[in-house]
Amino acid sequence: MKGLVPLSAVRRDYADVSASRCVYLTFDDGPNPFCTPDVLDVLTQHRVPATFFVIGTYVTDQPELIRRMIAQGHEVANHTMTHPDLSRCEPAVVHDEVLTTSKAIRSACPQASPRHMRAPYGLWTQAVLATTASAGLTALHWSVDPRDWSRPGVDRIVNSVLAAVRPGAIVLLHDGYPPGEERLCSDATLRDQTVMALSHLIPVLQQRGFAIRPLPQLH
Ligand SMILES: [Zn+2]
Repeated sequence: MKGLVPLSAVRRDYADVSASRCVYLTFDDGPNPFCTPDVLDVLTQHRVPATFFVIGTYVTDQPELIRRMIAQGHEVANHTMTHPDLSRCEPAVVHDEVLTTSKAIRSACPQASPRHMRAPYGLWTQAVLATTASAGLTALHWSVDPRDWSRPGVDRIVNSVLAAVRPGAIVLLHDGYPPGEERLCSDATLRDQTVMALSHLIPVLQQRGFAIRPLPQLH
């Protein structure tokens, strides 16, 4: 993990962009045939947008989920092809991981135009930032991480988001899991806590005066 840049070098919120109480929902590590449809259903039910940082190999397997995300008004963004620790990859591999993913997204859905990239595990290096910029993507970290992937319980996910959320916050959630990663439970229950937490969170955030918005267009 040599050469990691400080997180201050990467955008972690959009607090500077809007004076209003905007919040941004992001989902990593999908699309997953078991979890992503449930997440999409909850978002549709509440009519709120989100950004999905997808893994390229899954995009190739589940192109219809990418088309559904776009048809429902969500953003599809880049989370590499195979979810490696990019700080351990050669520059050519970093380049390939990022560019091939954007290509896979566009071939699954020609209307999709990825604008953001999130490094797996949030591990950013100067080379990753340079590749991201040269691919026309904005590097995007997060500001609120309830660690939903560890299945800490619905209430803990909800409460840790509510405790940390601020205007401009970017919330990190998961609608899948990385290739080769050991799963803590069956496919059917993998992200059930995330889905339940989401359906609690959206109305509470709105009651507290937050507007859930698409990521801003800065360029
Ligand atoms: Zn990830």
